Amino acid sequence: MGFKNKFTGVIITLTLLISVLSSLYLFDFSSMAAPGTVTVVIDPGHGGNDGTNLGAVYNGYMEKELTLKVANAMKSELEKYDGVTVYMTRTSDHFLSLEDRAKYAKEVGADFVFSIHFNASSEHNFYGSEVWCSSVGDYYKKGYEFGLLEQNELSALGLYQKGVKTKVGTKGDYYGVIRQCVARGIPCDIIEHCYLDHGYDLQHLNSKDFTTALGISDATAVAKYFKLKSKDGKTDFSKLTYTTVKKPSGVVFHDTTDPDTCSIQVLAYDSASRNALIELTAKDKQSPIIYFSYSHDGGNTFCPLGMWDRTKDTQSFNIKIPSGKSSANIVVRAYNNYELFKDSNGVAIETR
Ligand SMILES: [Zn+2]
Repeated sequence: MGFKNKFTGVIITLTLLISVLSSLYLFDFSSMAAPGTVTVVIDPGHGGNDGTNLGAVYNGYMEKELTLKVANAMKSELEKYDGVTVYMTRTSDHFLSLEDRAKYAKEVGADFVFSIHFNASSEHNFYGSEVWCSSVGDYYKKGYEFGLLEQNELSALGLYQKGVKTKVGTKGDYYGVIRQCVARGIPCDIIEHCYLDHGYDLQHLNSKDFTTALGISDATAVAKYFKLKSKDGKTDFSKLTYTTVKKPSGVVFHDTTDPDTCSIQVLAYDSASRNALIELTAKDKQSPIIYFSYSHDGGNTFCPLGMWDRTKDTQSFNIKIPSGKSSANIVVRAYNNYELFKDSNGVAIETR
């Protein structure tokens, strides 16, 4: 390009330089809202009065109400920290689509969305907490890192931890709120705190102020994740280190196959107490074994799910054979953390 004179050229160059510099400055500024501040959106799952989006409803609990209680407790706890601005997708009982929740998060400049939920299962046999994160790139990395922190907090409340997981559907991430947030450049985790239809979790839920405790745990995990300091100076996570997760190059698919190994042997049988000592070996390369259950009638009926120590592949336990039976056929079922199970070989025990 030719300038009319040297002077005009210098002016144009300076103007360009200033505009480039100021746009860089503005870009930095706008992407950080207020510098050093993170923006968190809490999304209380479900809601609305037309009866279509109550979430799980069991034992006098309604998911849409619990999620709001936990979210309120989480917000007030998180606001005790410096450097964080907290928004909620809803503060009352009304319907919001998953897309609207993500749109709102985008509008307020969310750095992370935490979607608050409670669980239930069709057979009412599962219990514990699980965290769902995105299956792609940085969203996976961030989601998984937060999930590990969240699990530690929930575990400290006595809840069994099922794991941090991804689930992929035909459109990408299976869960709509995660998919809609990721489409807008925002990491999002779903926290399924516990089951409303299982006694093991209900004993916690029925205890006083448990929803408040859950909200405080969620907020603490967020404060740890963003390395926040409390306003009163009593809590300082700024120097905290936690497990980091590698950014995956491709999509992190979920496990779709049942456990690789589930086999048993009877180590001993005591006819006086009718106790059989069973040794179970259960393994799955893709996902951890988290529950096991046994049957003494060849697999017709199973006992409630027991917790599996996932640091060991082989464990032993006692099974009491009901009195009045002259023989028993033991079968053990092992579940991975995608709730897929495998039945063991059967072993007959003569009890006479
Ligand atoms: Zn839900």
